[in-house]
Amino acid sequence: MKASKRLSTLLPYGDDGWDLYRKALARQNAGLPVTMLTIGEHDIGTAPAILDAMDAAARKGLTGYAPVPGQDALRACVAKRIERQTGAATSAENVLIVPGGQAGLFASHIATLDPGDIALFIDPYYATYPGTIRGAGGLPRVIVTGPETRFLPSRDALAEAAPGARTLLINTPNNPTGQIYDRATLEGIAETCMTHDLWLICDEVYDTQVWSGTHLSPRALPGMAERTLVVGSMSKSHAMTGSRIGWVVGPAEIIAHMADLATHTTYGVPGFVQAAALWALEQGPGLEEDVSAPFRRRRALAEIALAGNNRIRALPSDATMYLLLDIRPTGMSGTAFAEALLDAEGIAVMPGESFGRAAAGHVRVAMTIDDDAFAEALARLARFAETCPSGARSGFEMV
Ligand code: PMP
Repeated sequence: MKASKRLSTLLPYGDDGWDLYRKALARQNAGLPVTMLTIGEHDIGTAPAILDAMDAAARKGLTGYAPVPGQDALRACVAKRIERQTGAATSAENVLIVPGGQAGLFASHIATLDPGDIALFIDPYYATYPGTIRGAGGLPRVIVTGPETRFLPSRDALAEAAPGARTLLINTPNNPTGQIYDRATLEGIAETCMTHDLWLICDEVYDTQVWSGTHLSPRALPGMAERTLVVGSMSKSHAMTGSRIGWVVGPAEIIAHMADLATHTTYGVPGFVQAAALWALEQGPGLEEDVSAPFRRRRALAEIALAGNNRIRALPSDATMYLLLDIRPTGMSGTAFAEALLDAEGIAVMPGESFGRAAAGHVRVAMTIDDDAFAEALARLARFAETCPSGARSGFEMV
């Protein structure tokens, strides 16, 4: 029996971009040492105090069906957080609690696309984006950026891609580039959305991992709250990746439709997880800073390890637990470099090609091991790059 076309075409090239990661896991399972700098999984785990809150809630009885759109108090708390961030009036009816950002991305596309509608997204992109759009019945149309614009979409590229589209998906702070979309870029995006009557889906799951500059949500821009769905998550902000909790914030009417969708898909998020999430959010930014502090430190360690290297150029990182390294001076593709690095040094990083065309010739480093091991791994990576043959360009320069 065949799977539906929707599923059999979800990954049309049979490649989800995670080959290198699987290879590294296979090496690890075979007993070989591997330094994993691949996926966005914190090394610290969920804070014991959050687990205590979860445990207490479960023991108090929050183990039955939970309210599908989310507990009132949690929806209100998220609304307050988003209103504080954006200045746009936000209340509980604007918030749907979902089992993680990925579920929020899928639900947002189901909510805004009819079958066959064109859905825009920006390259480089988080690996699930095209499959998420296809899974929701949309036709992905990519806007390719490049290192010369720090991978931000230009107004011209947006204007060229927008005619006939229904949605635009962006991600700021950005995985894999570590960039924050600046105000001018977001204003260009807002103008495109208004001119072409697009829904904007903004993935903001890294909004607490900001090292320089300020994260701006497009929900804050004039006229955008009514056409924007903000996807948030506690996976990265509170090291709760396995708890599967996040939200979508948008106009009350579409959020109500999405609650109906949740009734027919996820049936909501476990009550004890929601209670723990509420407790964690109520602790305020201190807890979030504790969770993000290691990445801030390791970003500085990487800068030291890569200084003076003439085969690697680090894209200055504003945000996120990742670093994007331009290894084009070696003349190698990101995939070839990552494979050779895994073979030679047992260090696993993600090829830029896992995130689309635009980040070819780059690798993404996840800063997810302890500081000493991280500094040592980056020093080894830097030495390895020096042994690679020189490509067309060389010369160290921070771009
Ligand atoms: N968006 C981006 C950009 C991500 O990097 C991730 C996870 N790595 C997600 C969404 C999904 O996160 P989660 O479902 O754990 O909230």
